[in-house]
Amino acid sequence: MSYKDYEIVIGLEVHCELKTESKIFCGCTTQFGGDPNTHCCPICTGMPGTLPVLNGDVVEYAIRAGLATNCKISEYSKQDRKNYFYPDLPKAYQVSQYDLPLCYEGEVEIDLHEESKKIGITRIHIEEDAGKLLHESGEGSLVDYNRCGVPLIEIVTEPDLRSPEEVGIFMQKLRSILLYSDVSDCKMNEGSLRCDVNLSVRKKGSKEFGTRTEMKNINSFNFAVKAAEYEAKRQIKAIENGEAIIQETRRWDDAKGITISMRSKEEAHDYRYFPEPDLMPIVTPKEKIEAIRQALPEMPDTRKKRYMEAYGLSTYDADLIVASRNMADYYEEAAKASKNPKAVANWIMTEIFSRMTEDQKEEANIPFESGLLAELVNLIEQDIISNSIGKKVFNTMWETGKSPNEIVEEEGLKQISDDGPLIEMAKEVIEGNEKVVNDYLSGKEQAVQALMGQMMKKTKGQANPKKVIDILKSLLNEMK
Ligand code: ADP
Ligand code: MG
Ligand code: ZN
Repeated sequence: MSYKDYEIVIGLEVHCELKTESKIFCGCTTQFGGDPNTHCCPICTGMPGTLPVLNGDVVEYAIRAGLATNCKISEYSKQDRKNYFYPDLPKAYQVSQYDLPLCYEGEVEIDLHEESKKIGITRIHIEEDAGKLLHESGEGSLVDYNRCGVPLIEIVTEPDLRSPEEVGIFMQKLRSILLYSDVSDCKMNEGSLRCDVNLSVRKKGSKEFGTRTEMKNINSFNFAVKAAEYEAKRQIKAIENGEAIIQETRRWDDAKGITISMRSKEEAHDYRYFPEPDLMPIVTPKEKIEAIRQALPEMPDTRKKRYMEAYGLSTYDADLIVASRNMADYYEEAAKASKNPKAVANWIMTEIFSRMTEDQKEEANIPFESGLLAELVNLIEQDIISNSIGKKVFNTMWETGKSPNEIVEEEGLKQISDDGPLIEMAKEVIEGNEKVVNDYLSGKEQAVQALMGQMMKKTKGQANPKKVIDILKSLLNEMK
């Protein structure tokens, strides 16, 4: 038996913080940060006698997320109390949804290497976030309720994922959809997107699922993939050793690179769900749902297909560009203003993405407008500057935000395409390089490259490379 004889089965529960202005049941701000317990009121700190009022935006955002993931939307939905006793939750229950979630039966398509695959979305429900415990003080623990009552959606997938790699691809895709539908800023470092990874393994060909474990509260895609890789191997090894898998909650320890048992099913909470008596059912008429659907922006999949058809982008390039809505908008504006949309994509795929990685930017934050990228592409298209000078201009644009025309003018970077000076220079180079010239004349065609290199150096890269080659060859061929 080996790992290859097993199939991995994974389902995710993804928590996503909504970007509404105020919390789910009170008027407190949802802004990240702030001194501890400054974004709070009697309602979100669970004072007796207070009453919650549902924030209508929360319902609308959740429906938007549901429609963007091809879910059905419940016209009649309700909220329930999920009871558990822990100090991060001052009411001792979380208002969530149990049997009538707002959205259900959706699907998200992911692109694998050769084919695409649909991942079922079981449900999306709304709920409130909890506070944060700080254990660092050394004198007991402290609690910060600023996050308490911040609206969340929980997106539950069917156990349709079949490898750790698929987990990573799915999470990227889901993030992109949530960003497009403008329901969350999906900032991993602020905890606005996190997931629980449920994983089991089974012998290939087996119809029944194996016993699963759940890795809770993973706040990076990378950790989710690594946790799944580790856990799959751990389970297979245990089964091979004749041990039974225990249904339990585990924790990913990234420093150690392992998952650690937290509690078994026997110790699991009984949440004693019951309908929230202080809140009315959520009734959303069909017309309202349709209006939200109509207002939804074009989703990444549709955009990707459009860019491939209209601008000739490869699947790979289109995928990366549409992953962020800001980047897709930026690209499309530049593509429309340029004479070569494919070249615009190349600049994004190479220079812009690598600059963003260097600057550690999660989202497109390019220091110049899309029109200027189009201008740069057009300068190269029109042979006013060469591609290599283009890189130099790009760097200056990134640092100063100046327009490429301005930079080319100021630094005198225009390409030298006039035959006269180039022929003069070529003659000089040929005279000064007897050996290389003889090599060429005796049949070593590539020797011309050395001569070209010298001309490019003399002109600081500004000579039109095609012209240079043509002139050199014709002068050399005259010598034959
Ligand atoms: P619970 O209510 O205990 O959280 P659910 O049945 O709602 O359990 O499932 C939670 C998640 O676990 C879902 O994403 C689901 O796809 C996944 N899941 C369920 N069974 C398995 C299994 N055998 N292997 C892997 N994932 C599973
Ligand atoms: Mg669960
Ligand atoms: Zn409040």
